[in-house]
Amino acid sequence: MSQTPSEERHQRLAALDRAHVWHPFTQQQGWDQEDPLIVERSEGSFLIDDQGKRYLDGISSLWVTVHGHRKRALDEAIRAQLDKVAHSTLLGLASVPSIELAAELAKRAPPGLTKVFYSDSGSTSVEIALKIAFQFWRQSQRPEKKRFLALGEAYHGDTLGSVSVGGMELFHEIFRPLLFDVLRTPEPHCYRCPLGKSRPSCALACAAEAERLIAAHAHELAAVVVEPLMQGAAGMYAQPNGYLARLAAACKAHDVLLIVDEVATGFGRTGTLFACTQEGVAPDLMCVAKGLTGGYLPLAATLVTDRVSDAFRGSHESLRTFFHGHTYTGNPLACAVALANLALFDSERTLEHVKAMEPQLAQGLARIAELSHVGDVRRRGFMVGIELVADRATKGAYPSALRMGHQVTLAARRRGVIVRPLGDVVVLMPPLSISAQELALLLDVVQASIEEVTAVSRAA
Ligand code: PMP
Repeated sequence: MSQTPSEERHQRLAALDRAHVWHPFTQQQGWDQEDPLIVERSEGSFLIDDQGKRYLDGISSLWVTVHGHRKRALDEAIRAQLDKVAHSTLLGLASVPSIELAAELAKRAPPGLTKVFYSDSGSTSVEIALKIAFQFWRQSQRPEKKRFLALGEAYHGDTLGSVSVGGMELFHEIFRPLLFDVLRTPEPHCYRCPLGKSRPSCALACAAEAERLIAAHAHELAAVVVEPLMQGAAGMYAQPNGYLARLAAACKAHDVLLIVDEVATGFGRTGTLFACTQEGVAPDLMCVAKGLTGGYLPLAATLVTDRVSDAFRGSHESLRTFFHGHTYTGNPLACAVALANLALFDSERTLEHVKAMEPQLAQGLARIAELSHVGDVRRRGFMVGIELVADRATKGAYPSALRMGHQVTLAARRRGVIVRPLGDVVVLMPPLSISAQELALLLDVVQASIEEVTAVSRAA
């Protein structure tokens, strides 16, 4: 049977992709055996492939698309900035959009975060926070405070510093010889509690252990780094209420800096602009990226307090300067679209919309939670993990070779929905602007896909 021109083009592009594109976090051998979905266009909550098929973007293009794709105000912000200047450096020069965005971020951030250091990815925003915290103590006459405490199963990015504070065996173990030593506190993960406890009788033993470690090691700790409310890449581990507040209080009591990594949780994802404010936490340093530009351009920022930035002030010769800066730091196009993205939170009342949609999401998830191979459903706002298990009673996992999460992804794709799992945890991260009808489609397709895949595996 002869191919249509569009099929022919698809085959040509797929062959070029296999020949030349090395996909991140992807086993190429498996990738090469599947027909790739090649995205060409987008509209609102949908991505459209090279053959015109529409797919609901159930993961906001890796957790970044806040107000949907091809959002007119965002498209126009970039076009308007293009008519002025696409790029100028922040090394030695200032620029209009980077100034305006920094002021806007400081205004909307948790109290006390006044200075903005730009970079271009979540990983770099964390790398920068770690370096600032380390240098802060050296310049505060406490050079022995140079270790970091992080959570089990933490994920903070892929550069070597952020991998050092990361705690995911699968991703990080091979690089162990290159990493610096980090103090680790057990992850607050109630479904599979690493302390073998259960709620409420545990009385948050995970928080008590973190408090103990912070108190015992305060003399050598530069900072504690934490993903607030939800440890994303670990598999959407939802922290018990009160955990973050206790961690923050212990940091304050023992003069250890708190770095909150809001890369995944920031910009409305958990229902508030930043997750840490839900626990009344105002950190010393905060990392943001992903949703900062509404999913348009790579931009990140590390926000710090005056106390932190003041330690870097001094004469030129004092060498208190922070010697760090990437070429595209504070790129004007990216800052311009980030400003427009923040403005949309006001004009579109995005956080109110999320609140209004939450009951529908919760209801759909309650149905999914009843499926015989769903072990746990974890949610904060519009950040969701659905954990598939072979056996609900024992919480026994499926053999990893079955790739159940991936099978659900493929089944959902056949039904016109894009999701991407973390192992056997099906992740839902829809655009915050999603409509009721689109959300219904997402929930129905995910439920049907889980039913299809888990029924097959039961019969096998
Ligand atoms: N921190 C957290 C909490 C993240 O979820 C991620 C990415 N998923 C990162 C850092 C790294 O961000 P990037 O991929 O932009 O480097």
